[in-house]
Amino acid sequence: MCVEGKSMAIRITSFPQIQLMRRRFATLASKELLLEGWRQLLTPFHHQPLVSARRASMVVNRIQLLAFLFAILTLCWSLVDFLLFPPALGLYLFGLHILTSVAFLALATLYKPRGRLVDIYCALAIWCAIPITFYLASHIALSSFQAETEIVNIMTGYSFLPFVLLSSLTLFPLTIMECLCFALPIMFAQEFLGVVNWIYTPQIHVLFFSNELWLLAILTVFSTFASISQLALMLALIRQAARDPLTGAFARRSGEELLRLQYNISLRNQTPLSLAFIDLDHFKNINDRFGHERGDLVLKNATENFLRQLRAGDILTRWGGEEFLLIMPNTSLRQAHTAIRRFYATGLGHRPDGQRLTASIGIAERREDAANSGLHLIDIADARMYRAKQQGRDRIIAQDAPHEEPEGSSGVPRSRNLNA
Ligand code: GH3
Ligand code: MG
Ligand code: MG
Repeated sequence: MCVEGKSMAIRITSFPQIQLMRRRFATLASKELLLEGWRQLLTPFHHQPLVSARRASMVVNRIQLLAFLFAILTLCWSLVDFLLFPPALGLYLFGLHILTSVAFLALATLYKPRGRLVDIYCALAIWCAIPITFYLASHIALSSFQAETEIVNIMTGYSFLPFVLLSSLTLFPLTIMECLCFALPIMFAQEFLGVVNWIYTPQIHVLFFSNELWLLAILTVFSTFASISQLALMLALIRQAARDPLTGAFARRSGEELLRLQYNISLRNQTPLSLAFIDLDHFKNINDRFGHERGDLVLKNATENFLRQLRAGDILTRWGGEEFLLIMPNTSLRQAHTAIRRFYATGLGHRPDGQRLTASIGIAERREDAANSGLHLIDIADARMYRAKQQGRDRIIAQDAPHEEPEGSSGVPRSRNLNA
């Protein structure tokens, strides 16, 4: 029966029309991937929590390092101003530098990110706000000051600030929308000062400011390209490292990180978080009887069947050889149990001999099982899975009290369930 099915499959797939359809489907799928890739570069709304967490730590770390460097540079610069400008203006600029330096130092040392998207925006907003405030405050004082030539050269250093700030965006992996949101206020500040300058010295040609704006716009385009290139590389690396190459489920390390994140979110928002530990039954036997390659195919097929049925927020992780963790955010124990029973009834696929592939599954939930960490939640679910093994496999256990559910060959649960 199985052999017949296989030869039919070979005959059917050898038709040129079928091959053409396959090629078209592959093209469509790759177009969809490309579209998804662009969507992720355009806005952060479709990023996985893992991407947001890694991006947050990378952006905040870099900003803090830069803020520390700028705190020192600003301090050095303050001495130059103090020595070169007339006492009143020199003192004003000196004070401004000291305040700016302290603000940079505070950003470098006091800001503590928590791996959320909002951390990126807070850090970037502070990073941009400090020099812009300094720029506005210093420029307004300097624009009314008639300087000698060598001091004018130093004063031009101030007008480079918006350009330096815009260039700094190249250092962060940002989306197009984020780059524009941070570049526009910088350009706005520059134009505002252009108007102030023009009020004091109306003989300056208006084209002078439009040239500056033009230069800032070009810099914004270049910075955006540099930022999204970094982001694209980061997304590709995370995708590659985060996924298990055989099954396409999340790899264990990413699963651990995602569970930690979801546990913290669930704790902070007081929402439920369920977790299922799934271990395929008698899997070694498949390898022993049919070979490792057929075992691989069974694993792949079981994962595809699972992934097809998951909700958007659910996270399937390959925990070990034939063991999987299913993390279900915002899902109570009862809801998780119902969902797992439904997946399980649909089937994980078949063994190479045509028999139903079964699994032993333990489910736990953060609040109901009083789990004090993500790992504790895994331990509880693992212990229940182990009990399912002991009690004959092919069952789901979601409580510590005896609550076994042989799922049966029909795939329809027979015994008590949490919904009863
Ligand atoms: P039980 O019902 O008690 O879970 O029995 P089991 O045979 O599933 O469990 P056991 O831990 O004894 O064996 C797991 C097997 O899974 C052993 C290993 O050969 C197989 N395995 C682990 N990773 C892979 C893989 O990537 N591909 C294949 N084909 N087999 C794998
Ligand atoms: Mg196992
Ligand atoms: Mg097993």
